[in-house]
Amino acid sequence: MENSREKYEVVIGLEVHAQMLTKTKAYSNDVNEFGAHPNTNVSVVSLGHPGTLPVMNKKTIENAIKLGLACHSTIASNQYFARKNYFYPDLPKGYQITQDKTPICTGGYLVVKDDQGNYKNVGITRIHMEEDAGKSIHDVDVFDTLVDLNRAGVPLLEIVSEPDIRSSQEAYNYVTEVRKLVRYLDICDGNMEEGSLRCDANISVRLVGAQEFGTKVEVKNMNSIRNVQRAIEFEITRQIEVLEQGGVVSQETRGFDALKGSTISMRSKEAANDYRYFPEPDLQPLFVDEPQIEAVRSEMPALPRELYLKYTETFGLSEYDATNLVDNKFIALYFEEILTQTKHIKTAANFLMGEVKGYLNQQAIEITEFPIQPTIIAELVNLIEAGKISYSIASNKVFPALFENSNKSVLEVATLLNVIQDSDEDSISNYIQQVITSNPTEVQRYIAGEKQLVGFLMGQLMKVSQGKADPKQANPMLRKMLDELS
Ligand code: ADP
Ligand code: MG
Repeated sequence: MENSREKYEVVIGLEVHAQMLTKTKAYSNDVNEFGAHPNTNVSVVSLGHPGTLPVMNKKTIENAIKLGLACHSTIASNQYFARKNYFYPDLPKGYQITQDKTPICTGGYLVVKDDQGNYKNVGITRIHMEEDAGKSIHDVDVFDTLVDLNRAGVPLLEIVSEPDIRSSQEAYNYVTEVRKLVRYLDICDGNMEEGSLRCDANISVRLVGAQEFGTKVEVKNMNSIRNVQRAIEFEITRQIEVLEQGGVVSQETRGFDALKGSTISMRSKEAANDYRYFPEPDLQPLFVDEPQIEAVRSEMPALPRELYLKYTETFGLSEYDATNLVDNKFIALYFEEILTQTKHIKTAANFLMGEVKGYLNQQAIEITEFPIQPTIIAELVNLIEAGKISYSIASNKVFPALFENSNKSVLEVATLLNVIQDSDEDSISNYIQQVITSNPTEVQRYIAGEKQLVGFLMGQLMKVSQGKADPKQANPMLRKMLDELS
């Protein structure tokens, strides 16, 4: 099995559905919120009563344009909506309003890391607007299926990728990028566990060098990015096994069982649905013009990819630091705030990713709940860089004390703690004199040639000064005074 795997190339295309964070639903004024009491955000429109008419939610158009611009897509000027007919047990209209022939965005790409850690472009086929269905609940009532229609009509963006993805790890990275992007753009909360971001994976394998793609299988029902990866891994192995045994992969839709880590057939190609798409007669065609696109563009926030490039190329931070900083939108925003008050980018990044993130992890809180303002962290960084406090004192003493002294400046807190570094020459030579007097043996050995003992003597000096001597200044002074003794 292991060697046969190398004979095959994996081909994956992903369809991601993102529930939009709008106040109201896609085509009605019903409230769009997660976790409300069942069937409370439901009017006659969501119930599909005869005679009710959909009304386009303008915010969804803006969101779609935002995402399209972020993916370098082309935004269509003329669009219309379509009805996708189907027996939806939890969509009372009996059809979904979607964009079939005229998606709002076409083309474009997302930059994603491959297995070797190199960046590649994964093409975007289309992004279109549509609505969610309600939720059938099978596990509350023993005898009946219950339905919650709060989700019926919630606006969705469907993002369809080209079959450009070549491994389960790349798929993992792609979904992570999509989630990061919708969060930066504030159009979806990206929560896969609650189903606000969902992913269907299309997977096929072919012999390396083959021209044609293999038959694809679509896998649904993954509730985490990790499970998307697991489902794909299972499918790759299964499909290769089928082919190696001389069989053919049948085109079908499969579901993922997270407990077993396996996929199970749900329906085959022969049972494919005929959706009988036709133009939605109750909604006006949609026109998007250049000024409208420019208005959205002018309000776009900084995006993770741009920030990453700025941090690595302009600021010279490591790939690792830059990746971690942009990983979470609010960490990146916090970092940007720090940088408005300090020029010392590297120290700021170290302090944020080390001390601040350590605190957040320990307290299990998000940066948005962190009580210390970015300007305070900037002040701390500036004190370190000015040689007023050492990095380790800043981290071990001053930082923890900031929490109880929110009304004081960092300098005041450091003064109160008596940790301001001594860079006064007289007091430093005073410390050095004390060290020389109390360590005669080590001093003699140093003079006799054991120059490495300067390290030990520096340690003694830091002890005598209670960590307050500025080492950058004290070290050359110590050497000079020792050498004068020889
Ligand atoms: P369908 O008509 O079955 O929905 P599409 O052509 O619309 O198929 O493609 C749906 C998704 O499947 C897209 O993300 C696309 O990139 C991907 N895809 C298409 N063909 C393959 C293939 N042979 N292997 C893997 N993914 C594929
Ligand atoms: Mg499809």
